[in-house]
Amino acid sequence: MSLHKGPRTGGAEPDGLSMNPFFGPADPVGGMAEAPPRHRLPDTPMAPHAAFQIVHDELMLDGNSRLNLATFVTTWMEPQAGRLMALCRDKNMIDKDEYPRTAELERRCVAMLADLWNAPDPGQTVGCSTTGSSEACMLAGMALKRRWARRAATRKEGGRYPEGARPNLVMGANVQVCWDKFCNFWEVEARQVPMEGGRFHIDPQAAAELCDENTIGVVAVMGSTFDGSYEPVAEVCGALDALQERSGLDVPVHVDGASGAMVAPFLDEELVWDFRLPRVASINTSGHKYGLVYPGVGWALWRTIDDLPEDLVFRVNYLGGDMPTFALNFSRPGAQVAAQYYTFLRLGREGYRAVQRTARDVARSLAERINALGDFELLTRGDELPVFAFTTAQDVKNFDVFDVSRRLRERGWLVPAYTFPPNREDLSVLRVVCRNGFTADLADMFLGDLRELLPELRDQIAPLDRPAAVATAFHH
Ligand SMILES: *Cc1c(COP(=O)(O)O)cnc(C)c1O
Repeated sequence: MSLHKGPRTGGAEPDGLSMNPFFGPADPVGGMAEAPPRHRLPDTPMAPHAAFQIVHDELMLDGNSRLNLATFVTTWMEPQAGRLMALCRDKNMIDKDEYPRTAELERRCVAMLADLWNAPDPGQTVGCSTTGSSEACMLAGMALKRRWARRAATRKEGGRYPEGARPNLVMGANVQVCWDKFCNFWEVEARQVPMEGGRFHIDPQAAAELCDENTIGVVAVMGSTFDGSYEPVAEVCGALDALQERSGLDVPVHVDGASGAMVAPFLDEELVWDFRLPRVASINTSGHKYGLVYPGVGWALWRTIDDLPEDLVFRVNYLGGDMPTFALNFSRPGAQVAAQYYTFLRLGREGYRAVQRTARDVARSLAERINALGDFELLTRGDELPVFAFTTAQDVKNFDVFDVSRRLRERGWLVPAYTFPPNREDLSVLRVVCRNGFTADLADMFLGDLRELLPELRDQIAPLDRPAAVATAFHH
């Protein structure tokens, strides 16, 4: 949390940081090694090695990112990628004129994604890099909203926004929190299709029924952060086609492919979810999830230039000409874009297929073996995103998913437990995200730890109270 209310007071933390005698004098000009303040800028500089060691030692207490089964974000890259990123960390993405080659790599990545996502005319596809899918979703949502405002204004022949009309966006209750943010920040009503029974994501028919003349679009997720399932994008488009036949309403679809847009093209080629569907106006992905790059990079692409209203685009100087840009940030590091291009070049389609196939194999096998333990029930099996969710079996009364999460944490594994949204608030689950670097060997060790914990969990009299810390470990 970066919105601090000031230093933590009254706790165990003293005001000063501790100084090891090895660090030498805090003040390079001389004097005693004095403890630098914790919450105030120190008055004087200190030697770089001492500052390094203090920061380094504090960070040792962070968890081991490789054992973090909660996050979708890349936690391992090759040393070559690390070197390229180090070489580019001083380059600002916005300075297209100073760094034309970095700008060119961004364009190539957009073109590669357009091709990967079957854009009808990859040369016509527009897109940009972002800091992640959240920014990409903000941009895509803004484009939808502006297009709606224009349509509505044309209908009403009035000002820019039709009087009294409030735009809305239709989605499943399982959307990632960035869509709640988008609706909040840009004053759009979020119309959510609730979960029902064993359906943990959007229902195409219910989504179409929520649409009206003020619907800016429908969001379909590939795949859901709650259980790793793909939403039925083609069926959503089909329901909206039928809606258009009935009512004339032409509602565009945005595909939030934060994870799945870098999985499905390699492992589920026959699945039609992308620009092959004419109703899909835009797609985003997180380069730092299954795009296999360290955080933070994301991508947003629009089918054609018509899907991205011209008045949202700003122009920056580029080799004497001007280059269109669409972003919330101005300055942004160029390193992640270079690393994304490196990874595309390095792996190619075959390489990506091999990496994602391995992640899915690990997920499927681990899900199967957890199922075989008998204490759990799978909601998903890791056969869409390499992600699965499971809960305790019906007859398990002595412990719950929060107990399991807490006990696994004692062994270093971070596995979030969380409660589902409407109308399945009765259901609490554990989720495991398998990604590159979570090897079959690590999965074996994880299963071994889970197996060893079970006798103690079964011996509990009842579930312990649900600790808040565990409930918030869920990474959407
Ligand atoms: C992770 C995720 C996001 C947010 O992406 P960031 O890259 O973390 O900003 C949005 N939607 C879905 C479906 C996600 O999985």
